[in-house]
Parts: sequence; structure tokens; C-alpha cells
Amino acid sequence: MANQDDQFKKVISHAKEYGYIFPSSEIYDGLSAVYDYAQNGAELKKNIRDYWWKAMVQMHDNIVGIDASILMHPTTWKASGHVDAFNDPLIDNKDSKKRYRADVLVEDYVAKIEAKIDKEVAKAEKRFGDAFDKEQFVATNPRVVKYTEQAQAILKRLGQSLEKEDLADVKALIEELEIADPDTGSKNWTEVKQFNLMFGTKLGASADSAMDLYLRPETAQGIFVNFLNVQKTGRMKIPFGIAQTGKAFRNEIVARQFIFRMREFEQMEMQFFIKPGTQKEWYDYWKETRLKWHLSLGMGEDNYRFHDHEKLAHYADAASDIEFKFPFGFKELEGIHSRTDFDLAQHEKFSNKKLQYFDPEENKSYVPYVLETSIGLDRMFLAVFSNSLQEEELENGSTRTVLKLPAVLAPTKVAILPLVKKDGLPEVAKEIFEELKWDFNVTYDEKDAVGRRYRRQDAAGTPFCVTVDHDTLEDQTVTIRHRDTMEQKRVKITELRDLVKEEVDVRNWLMKVK
Ligand code: ATP
Repeated sequence: MANQDDQFKKVISHAKEYGYIFPSSEIYDGLSAVYDYAQNGAELKKNIRDYWWKAMVQMHDNIVGIDASILMHPTTWKASGHVDAFNDPLIDNKDSKKRYRADVLVEDYVAKIEAKIDKEVAKAEKRFGDAFDKEQFVATNPRVVKYTEQAQAILKRLGQSLEKEDLADVKALIEELEIADPDTGSKNWTEVKQFNLMFGTKLGASADSAMDLYLRPETAQGIFVNFLNVQKTGRMKIPFGIAQTGKAFRNEIVARQFIFRMREFEQMEMQFFIKPGTQKEWYDYWKETRLKWHLSLGMGEDNYRFHDHEKLAHYADAASDIEFKFPFGFKELEGIHSRTDFDLAQHEKFSNKKLQYFDPEENKSYVPYVLETSIGLDRMFLAVFSNSLQEEELENGSTRTVLKLPAVLAPTKVAILPLVKKDGLPEVAKEIFEELKWDFNVTYDEKDAVGRRYRRQDAAGTPFCVTVDHDTLEDQTVTIRHRDTMEQKRVKITELRDLVKEEVDVRNWLMKVK
């Protein structure tokens, strides 16, 4: 655990030191769970957003993108169920006065059981070597079977009590499991209560006529209310999708995990409108398609897993999360939800407007069903950033810190370095800079010995360094160095553009997993 904590602390301090993420309003000591993206962070975030947008909108001729407002008519949130049901169960510790999400306390307890299972598996793997059959071991080892049953039983009970809104049973479960305040060890808990997560605000200046609004807690509703507008003006035929990226706001009860859980965050969502009855097939399709998108970034297949929901949200008939192995364990990164016709039917009811699609093949109108994919941009940022940050032992015994961001996402693609600050080398280096900047974000650095500059670029995540030396003046060649392998190659200046393009081209990355 200490190790995980250390790794996570390193991620947070590296993000600050290398201009990726700053605490918000830091000169006033910051604001809890609110962060700013810095010069490199803004680029990385934009590249992740573009990578998603290209895969979802550009690559699907039946998906279009919109950009709806954060503020919406307040009835939207009555219709969507958020006013009545967008709650989290909270519990306070009477001694420490700290507030927790009751379901998360139980889930963390289960995560500890799962960690025990992983430990047993790792031990057995070591013992049996190549002959080890993991599936068989997990299914038959008495200790592992016991842990697995225990974990499943707890999650099942939690799911059922939340479903029935039996908050007393959630409290009973916490007591039976003897879950203590993670910070202080105290088991002196209050009752479990529901807490609505929406941020309220007001529209209009005068107190009398002001209208109560909410900052949107999800981007999805901006898509639902525009469903017919897009369908008609875009002449879309079912099945089709509407995608959007944008800010969402949730007054999270506990937000202590850096950008994993923020109060202001960004979502990338796509609602796919389908014929009722076809939801199972599309659910499977989007689960697979979205996982492939993640895998295309090459961050390790073992770092992802699906978690199918026991407890379904009020709108869903099936739901699964793609979980990622963050520095603090496997947690939700993306949700794939079969939302039925819940949202559109509710908006029909509350607006008294028909939100139906005329299906020419069936020769009838119906309210479409919806398959949703919903990923947090900031969570994706944390997944990419934390997975990329590595300490490497080098052959000469020293270590280097390297941020192995997928090259397609890296904020700066190339650093141009004159070997020395004289003899005309900076001039040539600047010429290369001026040429490459039309195609890529590039940076120029002439300060310190070249070895130190390499390290600086490694830590900042720049995939390529181009060094201009005295030979360059003679033969117009330069050294290109790869961040991950540290391999150096002599190439012609005129080849640089194509070499880098090959490695950072979205097409080549998205094609990796078909
Ligand atoms: P969690 O259970 O972690 O609170 P959720 O199930 O409420 O998440 P959804 O409503 O399904 O999340 O939202 C879709 C996605 O938005 C999530 O998969 C996550 O990546 C992202 N997300 C949700 N809440 C936050 C938050 N407070 N900060 C950052 N990202 C978030």
C-alpha cells in the first residue's frame, strides 16, 4: 500500500513540476478537488479529446458531434431523474468528523479482499512457473475460492440494499464488516443519508424573478434534448450516434484522489440511438469497440478489465465499466450503459413534445432506445499520465525518470537541440524548428549539456529529440533519439518530417487494434 501511495504522490508532483496540472487558485491555498491544466496538460488533454473525437465522430459516418450548453432548462433535470435520484449515500465518522461515501467504504473493503486474491495468484505463479494454470487455480484453490465468494456476497448485498434504498442495511453492513475510518481507525459511524450531487445556481439578476438552475451533472442530457433537431437537420437514420465533449459538475462527497474525482470535470459521451430490441447486440458492440480504442494506445492489456454492474442506475437495463489499473488500484474509467428509452420517454412526458423517430423500414414511429458510452476526460488523462511515468534503471547503474506517453498524445513531439551554443549550430537548429512547427508542436532547447537536455525531455514526455552537431553543417544530417529506447539514428534533415509523422499519426495508432 505504501508503495502505491508513493507512486501516486510521484504522479502528482511530477504533474506539477513538468507543467501538466496545478492546483486551482494555488496562491489562495487551492480549492478542494479543483485543478487547472497547465501548458503541457492542456495539450495532452486536447490530444486525448481529439483521439476520442476522431475515433468516434470522424471514423463513424453515422455519428455526429454537438456542443450543448452547460446551463439547461431546469425541467431537464426533473425529467432525467437527477433532482430526485442523483444521490450518493454518505456517512460521517463521529470522532474524526470526516465524511465518506458509504458504498465506497464497502467497495474499498472488497478491493482489499481482491488484493489478497492477487497475492495468492502471484505466489502460486512463482511456485509453479510455466506449468501454472491461472484459471484453474482461481477456480479451485480453497483460499481463493473463499475470498471470491466473500467479495461477491458483500457486493451483492450492497447492490441490493442500495437498489431498495435500504440505507440502514448499508450501515449494518459497514458495522458487520467492522469497517473503520481509513484515516483514524474509528468505527463510530452516523446513519447513512442520501446527498444530492447537483450544483445549484441562479439565472437572472433580481431575486424575485431569478430562476433556479443546475450546472449540468452530465453532458448526456444536452444530447437527448437535441435528439430530434439533429436527426431531422442531419437526416440521420437509426442506428446513429450523437457525441459531445464538455464540462460537467458534481458536488462529490469525497474528492481526495487528485483528478480522478473532481467537482468540475470533463466528459466525452456518445449516445447511440437504436431500434428497441437491438440493445443487447449494440451493448456488446460498444463494449468491444471502446475497449479496442483503449488498447490501441498500447498501455497494456492487463491494465483493463470490465466490471458488469449488479446495481443498475435508474435509467439502465445493462451497464458495464471499463476499469483501469490506476496507482490506487482498478477503478472505473468509462461506463457503457444500455439506457433503454428512459431519457427520451421522460422528456416526451415532461415537455409534451413527441421525440419519436419514423422508421421507414418498419413504417412506424417509435421512441428509440439508447446505448451510451461515457468516459471522463480527466480520468483518461490520469490513466495515461500515471501509466506513462516510469523510473528506469540504466546499464551504467543510474536511473532516469521517463514519461512514456503514447507519442500520438504527447504535448510536444520533437525537441530540437543544438549540441553547442555556437559555431552556427543554433541557427541550423532554429531553421529545423521553423520548418517542423507547421506540422507538430516542437520545442527548442540550447541550455545545459545535451545529456541533461535529453533527461529533461524524457521527463516531460517528448518522444523525439533531434540534435544538430558539427557534421550537420557538412552533410545536412542530424541525430534523432527515441525517448523510450534511447536509440539514436543519423538521418537527413529532409527525412525528419515523415519519420516523426509516421510515429505520431492518429491513423497508425487507431489501426493498431482492429
Ligand atoms: P463514480 O462511480 O466513479 O462516481 P459514475 O458511475 O458516477 O462514477 P458516470 O455517471 O457513469 O460515473 O460518468 C461517466 C464517466 O465520467 C465516469 O466513467 C468517469 O470517467 C467520469 N466521471 C464521473 N464523475 C467524475 C468526477 N467527479 N471526476 C472526474 N471524472 C468523473
